[in-house]
Amino acid sequence: MKVKGIHHISSIVGQAQKDVDFYSGVLGLRLVKKTLNYDDKNYYHLYYGNKNASSEIVTTFPMNNMPQGKIGDGQVGYVSLAIPKDSFGFWKKRLNEFNIKNNEYTRFDKNRLYFTDPDGLEIEFIESDLAADNPYSFNGVSEKQAYKGIINAALFSKLPKETLTVLTDVFGYEIVDEDNDFYQLKLKESDEQFIELLKNSRGIGQVAKGSVHHLAFKVKNEDIVAWRDYLVKKGYHPTDVKERHYFRSVYFREPGGILFELATAGPGFLIDETVDNLGENFIIPKKYIDETQAIIKKMPAIVQREIDEI
Ligand code: ZN
Repeated sequence: MKVKGIHHISSIVGQAQKDVDFYSGVLGLRLVKKTLNYDDKNYYHLYYGNKNASSEIVTTFPMNNMPQGKIGDGQVGYVSLAIPKDSFGFWKKRLNEFNIKNNEYTRFDKNRLYFTDPDGLEIEFIESDLAADNPYSFNGVSEKQAYKGIINAALFSKLPKETLTVLTDVFGYEIVDEDNDFYQLKLKESDEQFIELLKNSRGIGQVAKGSVHHLAFKVKNEDIVAWRDYLVKKGYHPTDVKERHYFRSVYFREPGGILFELATAGPGFLIDETVDNLGENFIIPKKYIDETQAIIKKMPAIVQREIDEI
């Protein structure tokens, strides 16, 4: 068995509306699902993606009362988002217009535009053919510039060699390149998407506001139980298979301290909303359905809206 690439990446952020304003209002991603944290009904779980939620998904847990975290070993350090070819200039100008500091650099022959979100999460744009253009326009970002998917997650491990073993021996990635700082890994089937694994230490990280909580890899729907058994056989300690409504999941903390999830491709995000109204409803998980009215009353209202400053 091999994983099928990145499924989603989930981070802890601060204020919910500010998060929507940044990821949708500035970066032009579509808010494709507004739901609650499965493990804590006091917090939203927000999902951002392409128009029909078929891309890799950026998810956030807005938890404004959390202390500020620290990006470092034992975490995903930064995430690279794919944008269409020839949109680099547009994005540089747009980030500048929103007063978001950014800088360009190149690694593994990829030109990158690096910046941080309002809570300090590290993000970069890379021009890519990763997927078909995303036919979504919002607040000045057209399909010629719109988010196409996650092209890279950079891993900062406490034990890079051990993390490398998980990626290669368990998940099926291969090292395709390396420099002084990073290994670059790919799945054979994917020419575009990759994983970067930092070889050195950045200092121990602290998972809290402004850091990545976990990284999910895609697996076939019918394989999730076999994947759990396989992880046990390999000596890891996965959770039970969890029902996440839009997918089924198994989580385990790899030896380098990073929380990995394996998530099924299906059933997907169109099971409770259509492409036309993705993200418009507040979806309360079944386990909290009896408390719907109280939850709606308590949670701050959030909306995907057009903005001209953040
Ligand atoms: Zn997840």
